[in-house]
Amino acid sequence: MQGFMPRIEITLSQIQHNARILCELYGEQGISLMGVSKAVLGEPLIAEAMIRGGVKFIADSRLENIQRMKNSRVSAQFVLLRTAPSQAESVVEDVDISLNTEIVTLEKLNYYASLQNKIHQIILMVEMGDLREGILPDDIFLFIEKVLCLSHLKIIGVGCNLACYGGIKPDAQKMQQLSALTDAIEKKFDLNLSITSGGNSANYKWYKSTKQVGRINNLRIGESILLGYETVNNKAIPKLHTNAFKLIAEVIESKVKPSLPFGEIGRDAFGNIPVFKDCGMHQRAIIALGKQDTLISGLSTNQDLEILGSSSDHTVIDSKNFDLKVGVGVNFNLDYGSLLMAMTSPFIKKQFIK
Ligand SMILES: *Cc1c(COP(=O)(O)O)cnc(C)c1O
Repeated sequence: MQGFMPRIEITLSQIQHNARILCELYGEQGISLMGVSKAVLGEPLIAEAMIRGGVKFIADSRLENIQRMKNSRVSAQFVLLRTAPSQAESVVEDVDISLNTEIVTLEKLNYYASLQNKIHQIILMVEMGDLREGILPDDIFLFIEKVLCLSHLKIIGVGCNLACYGGIKPDAQKMQQLSALTDAIEKKFDLNLSITSGGNSANYKWYKSTKQVGRINNLRIGESILLGYETVNNKAIPKLHTNAFKLIAEVIESKVKPSLPFGEIGRDAFGNIPVFKDCGMHQRAIIALGKQDTLISGLSTNQDLEILGSSSDHTVIDSKNFDLKVGVGVNFNLDYGSLLMAMTSPFIKKQFIK
């Protein structure tokens, strides 16, 4: 597999390092971490690197990814981030904790938990303004009353998710609200909630600026562990590796060509009418990589190369003064969207670096 292109080189020791630094950092104020594995399809070796780095839980939005890790004997508490009623039976079978917002789904989980003679643990997600998943705070007491009638479910905590859909920042006010809600639920129902999960890789700035984490004692972290970034300002977190994943793809054409297409302009492969700037003749290369493999707009290079555009299987770059030879590999860094897609592409080989 060495030398195969396109490939992603994955440095497990760097992922482990990132997980350890973040566990130590968040641990200083009593916050445990769930390592989120969905961007890497629940790749077992990566989950194990996170566990060696100290994460207590592995969380994924796809049941199939959790099953993959369990089949590879990854040993952790598994958390399902997105629960669908049609998967209820397998969720109860394969998952320790699931995140939930719907009574219909919980009734199904309860039904299968009773058949399997299990108590299934749940975290209730609260809507704090980002408008993806969550029970509205006004509805949560009535909701919990209903859940408490389901004898094979145990509410172990509450959580919220921000900065994913609506771009709402996790700030002190949101975190205080979630803390206060945790207290109120415990008091009203005489419950003990062991987890208050305040968010994801977007919570870094809030954490660094707060002296009072309140009841927040858990975060679900994917991008910061994998790529070393916080996601509110997209800044690298000090002491973390940002290049644990490297995409290497092959040059298949390298020529001096005009920068302006010639002929009558119609539409490109995706139905858009493209616009170009005339920079005269220049050195261009084609990389054997395309929209079917990854999100090309999320790639960057350390070399002086400019990605001009791509179609399904070709990426065109301005190689500036570089005379890229046909057959050589070009290295790219990936953002989260590119990583997610590249890990999902069957055409890109995954190579682990010790
Ligand atoms: C994807 C996801 C996360 C992890 O987000 P990152 O930005 O990668 O840290 C956390 N919680 C939920 C519910 C998610 O879906």
